[in-house]
Amino acid sequence: MKIYTNGKFYTEIADVVRAFGFDATESTFEQANLLVMGKLDGQIYHTRCTVDGIEKEYEINCPIDDEIMSVRLQKRYDKLATYYCLKQLTGRQLPWGSLTGIRPTRLAEEIQRNEGLDYVKTFRDLLDVTDEKLTLVKDILDAQSGLKNKDASLVDLYVGIPFCISKCTYCSFTSGIISKLKHLVEPYVSSLCDEIKLTVNLIEKKGLRLKNLYIGGGTPTSLEVEDLRKILSVLPRCDGEFTVEAGRPDTITVEKLQLFKEFGVNRISINPQTFNQSVLDSVNRCHTTQDIYDKYNLAKSFGFCINMDLIAGLPTESFEMFCNSINQVVALDPENVTVHTLALKKGSLLKEQNFVASDATVAQMVNFARQKLNEAGYLPYYMYRQKYMTENLENVGFCKSGTQCLYNIDNMEETTSILACGANAITKRIFQNGGRIERVANQKDVITYIEKYKSNLEKKKALFDL
Ligand code: SF4
Repeated sequence: MKIYTNGKFYTEIADVVRAFGFDATESTFEQANLLVMGKLDGQIYHTRCTVDGIEKEYEINCPIDDEIMSVRLQKRYDKLATYYCLKQLTGRQLPWGSLTGIRPTRLAEEIQRNEGLDYVKTFRDLLDVTDEKLTLVKDILDAQSGLKNKDASLVDLYVGIPFCISKCTYCSFTSGIISKLKHLVEPYVSSLCDEIKLTVNLIEKKGLRLKNLYIGGGTPTSLEVEDLRKILSVLPRCDGEFTVEAGRPDTITVEKLQLFKEFGVNRISINPQTFNQSVLDSVNRCHTTQDIYDKYNLAKSFGFCINMDLIAGLPTESFEMFCNSINQVVALDPENVTVHTLALKKGSLLKEQNFVASDATVAQMVNFARQKLNEAGYLPYYMYRQKYMTENLENVGFCKSGTQCLYNIDNMEETTSILACGANAITKRIFQNGGRIERVANQKDVITYIEKYKSNLEKKKALFDL
């Protein structure tokens, strides 16, 4: 679909268009088949969308003295005009209605707090969110009740390991294959340890206190025990959560688990993604289903709180096969289960191969997962959405009551500043309870990171007024 807008929100309008399954390209007025024309006159914003003879328009009041709110409302109504035009054109209601943002639960809270509106009514009657997704939002807000950080002096520390054993076909991260990058591991670990020490110093100087530690990736456990030991040795002790994303079951060993225990790690992720061997093979995971059971049982014997990730929509996986994965994970009974919807992002092999998942089947999978996990006593407790997700759906973290991963809530609800170390890591400072967020992004690729990581410190210091 060719889009022309005279306003500032092409990207958001294009997101709505894509959510209906159309291609979206920016176009001139003359060539466009979808036009969004907005005009602010004093405090009245008037917007109109036209496509294929269908027209929707809105006129709303924008506060003159609150620029952020005014822009937010203009954007919302440009998207709404587009959404309702396309809903009429296609005859389809999208599960999330006109919402294309990453964090629906944050939006719900902002609507209540900043606009004084009932989010349930706004989501359902204005934004056209389905009852099913609205219930999901309500359940998540309930599961987060009392767990959101309100103390600005508490921060989380994130450490990124950008190496993996092989490249999953759906992956768009900049993570490299460790066997091909052996020469970079030592300099990377050394630079990372230095950045961690300098960052911990910054935390202390600013009088901040560490809330949670998180080592993510990539696959942190693709490193050898001695490299992991070097990294763990420079991390400060943490009274809160200490999570390591082990990820690939085949990278987990008794020695690594012993090391994690020694350094106070209390949560790990072991991510099957699927329990069907043919699907694991087809997405290049390079491990067996037996590895999943073996390493899960091994990690359990060490007493870790365990999360397991699954993905709905993987190539060659039918609805019945996905149900098998959910049934297997429920039988293993980890504390947390995260159900992702396949997102086909630029940089992934699947995207290059133009793989297309069946929207209806993926929606069915996600619904089955939720129902089955609910029956097994899991609550949804955090959620995020990404661009290019199949059927415009969501990723949902489920947990047994009382086992919510607080780092995930801090991160997704943006209630807590996160200082981040490593290639492609992003430090976020949260101001005014999430009202304003500023970021410092580290170098994306490993070589540039090793060369330039020290410059990140200056930026982090400026971000934290030091
Ligand atoms: S394990 Fe994770 S980070 Fe590594 S290639 Fe697969 S999806 Fe990407």
